[in-house]
Amino acid sequence: MNSFDYTRASDVAEAVKLKAASPDAKFIAGGTNLIDLMKYHVEQPRRLIDISRLPLTAVEETSAGGVMIGALVPNSTLAYHPVIESRYPLLSSAILAGASAQLRNMASTGGNLLQRTRCAYFYDTATPCNKRKPGEGCSAINGLNRGHAILGASTSCIATHPSDMCVALAALVAKVHVAASSGERVIAFADFHRLPGDRPDLDNTLRPDEIITAIELPAQGFASNYSYLKIRDRLSYAFALVSVAAALKLDGGRIREIRLALGGVAHKPWRNEAAEAALRGQAPDREAFGRAADLVLMDAKAHAHNAFKISLARRAIIRTLTQAANATPQIQSIKAIR
Ligand SMILES: Cc1cc2nc3c(=O)[nH]c(=O)nc-3n(C[C@H](O)[C@H](O)[C@H](O)COP(=O)(O)OP(=O)(O)OC[C@H]3O[C@@H](n4cnc5c(N)ncnc54)[C@H](O)[C@@H]3O)c2cc1C
Ligand code: SF4
Repeated sequence: MNSFDYTRASDVAEAVKLKAASPDAKFIAGGTNLIDLMKYHVEQPRRLIDISRLPLTAVEETSAGGVMIGALVPNSTLAYHPVIESRYPLLSSAILAGASAQLRNMASTGGNLLQRTRCAYFYDTATPCNKRKPGEGCSAINGLNRGHAILGASTSCIATHPSDMCVALAALVAKVHVAASSGERVIAFADFHRLPGDRPDLDNTLRPDEIITAIELPAQGFASNYSYLKIRDRLSYAFALVSVAAALKLDGGRIREIRLALGGVAHKPWRNEAAEAALRGQAPDREAFGRAADLVLMDAKAHAHNAFKISLARRAIIRTLTQAANATPQIQSIKAIR
């Protein structure tokens, strides 16, 4: 059992002040990832700063035509919010593909961005792991790596980012609003999560004294032509082997705008703008989608047990783009029985 102090912050200013004063502290929101990590002794914060009661629970349309989502909006509230369901169904669909109904009720929007990898060695303190303890080595590279990265990995770490919601946020080109005692800043979603390089212990570019306050969606929600496809070992309660978020704008039988992001394949949600550019102006057919998939996977590299992910990703990209083009999005099972 780890002993720790517990403080509940009453506003953002108090939360960031407490965090700046104790570098060993951790914010706790829904606790669905942090508490597990503490039980496994992977995280050992000296103090928990409870931010779950902060007034960051609004989903509001902005003057720019987009939507601002408070960092403490529960995943389930967000997925079923009428504005999100009608204007950003890709985001609803990705959230509902994740975890379970109970977990989504607890999990917060900000916490979802900061959930840590599901690499089994990361959770097993008896094995070396550079993400847990820099310099120890990576047990997955020559170990069991069926679920690991095929894109953007390094010789230090081949872990993947586990979030579904973040794949949709990458495709929607969201922004992350953060605050610290010294002020506020906005981080482009593409710059929020990191590739492992030689610092796999750093998942993202959030500074230690910063708190996520909101996620901002731009006006373009791709409500007509979208799909989120998640391929996993079980239909629910399992992380993605490969997932794809696709969103299109069609005009006169051609692709006018396109977004394509993958989950389960890299240390961060994987968006490939070159593949998107290659599809603009093309007819939305299988051949064009295949060429785009080849561009996305051009530099893919397999390890001993995950070569299947490369061909799986290619097929998943083509299928998701086809679903989006035909306006027949993947139905998440929870949606069907709601
Ligand atoms: C069994 C299981 C299955 C799951 N399956 C899926 C899945 O299929 N797909 C998926 O996407 N997710 C899945 N999840 C993950 C779940 O979505 C995340 O655990 C959840 O989103 C984390 O949110 P939280 O509020 O509980 O975060 P917490 O556990 O409270 O915090 C997580 C981290 O974020 C930090 N933090 C939280 N909020 C903020 C903030 N506002 N600012 C700065 N730091 C903050 C905390 O300090 C901590 O480091 C699963 C989880 C479990 C336990
Ligand atoms: S892949 Fe990354 S998280 Fe997994 S053991 Fe290697 S260093 Fe650790």
